[in-house]
Amino acid sequence: MSLDAAWALDWTHRAAVMIAENRAELTELDRAIGDADHGDNLDRGMRAVVTKLDAAQKAGNLPATPGGVLKVVATTLMATVGGAGGPLLGTAFLRAARSSDASAWGAENLVRALEEATSGLEARGHATSGDKTMADAWRPATVAAREAAEIGEDEVGVLSAAARAAADGARDTEPLQARRGRASFLGERSCGHRDPGAQSSALIFQAALDAARARSLEPIMVIEQA
Ligand code: ADP
Ligand code: MG
Repeated sequence: MSLDAAWALDWTHRAAVMIAENRAELTELDRAIGDADHGDNLDRGMRAVVTKLDAAQKAGNLPATPGGVLKVVATTLMATVGGAGGPLLGTAFLRAARSSDASAWGAENLVRALEEATSGLEARGHATSGDKTMADAWRPATVAAREAAEIGEDEVGVLSAAARAAADGARDTEPLQARRGRASFLGERSCGHRDPGAQSSALIFQAALDAARARSLEPIMVIEQA
């Protein structure tokens, strides 16, 4: 099993649903250490992405590669999400999109895409691990993905390790003091709150895993009893 454009499309749709379902919670996290708009920003962006991809599908114009789909995600997020989150996630998705033009991604493509995405995000935001930003979900997810691929895990195994590390990374932002973004203005008062961007990124990783799991189950056929 490898991950094709249909996986990337399903990932996008699932991510949009997860962000919509968690919009209020993400915005509440941003109320504590930011300006209470993160859930709304990302929900607006992901809805625009889905609208764009649906229109492409109707026109018979869907991208044929995972990279093609992720490029639409990137450019649409950059154009529609106000605030820091849009350009940062847009950069991550654009770098992932450019990492491979293969029609289906195996574990190694996936890891390379994550490494590119995370490096792009960190460079754009001047953020590293421990700064209490979305990089605290992306970097551990990327490291875990690389480790999983090196012990021979397939795409689902790689994404499973990544999603778990992203969720742990988001949780582990709670005690940190923010050094980048709006939350850094609060100094020590940013401690004790989870970073909204790390949390939304963990949801995006979970959606990628869910889509890969759904895809890996597809070839299993029900054998009818005689
Ligand atoms: P804004 O801060 O402009 O209102 P959002 O609320 O949409 O934008 O996004 C805030 C999130 O963006 C933060 O929780 C953090 O994860 C992320 N972020 C902000 N600045 C940076 C940065 N310099 N590098 C990486 N991530 C950042
Ligand atoms: Mg905000």
